[in-house]
Amino acid sequence: MMTDNIFLKISEGKIPASIVYEDDRCLAFRDINPQAPVHVLIIPRRVIATHADIVKPEDRDLLGRLQLVAVQLAKKLGLTDGYRLVVNCKERAGQTVPHLHIHLLGGRDMAWPPG
Ligand code: 5GP
Repeated sequence: MMTDNIFLKISEGKIPASIVYEDDRCLAFRDINPQAPVHVLIIPRRVIATHADIVKPEDRDLLGRLQLVAVQLAKKLGLTDGYRLVVNCKERAGQTVPHLHIHLLGGRDMAWPPG
């Protein structure tokens, strides 16, 4: 597994980011190229390359925590009218950074189906 990636560097404080939440196991920061007025990325500190690599039973807790952070941030960032969570998994879905991340998008109307 590739262990070096830009999100790991952000998690380790080696690259700056606009961090909106962090704890011992996860981190959330603003996307550098936002696709909505609110666009935050929520990541585990540990490298899990893609959604398809969530295979260990203990990952369940971590995933639950990431989802909880998403809910808390949506409230904190004022997304009371709704928001969208997106996980792009591998090339065909447009994943560009090989470190699992949940996009939290909000602050505008969302179209469906997604592109
Ligand atoms: P993906 O396409 O893999 O689902 O999403 C990767 C996201 O990471 C993109 O929305 C992109 O704008 C964002 N991104 C890429 N490099 C950086 C960076 O160095 N800093 C921040 N804050 N976001 C980044």
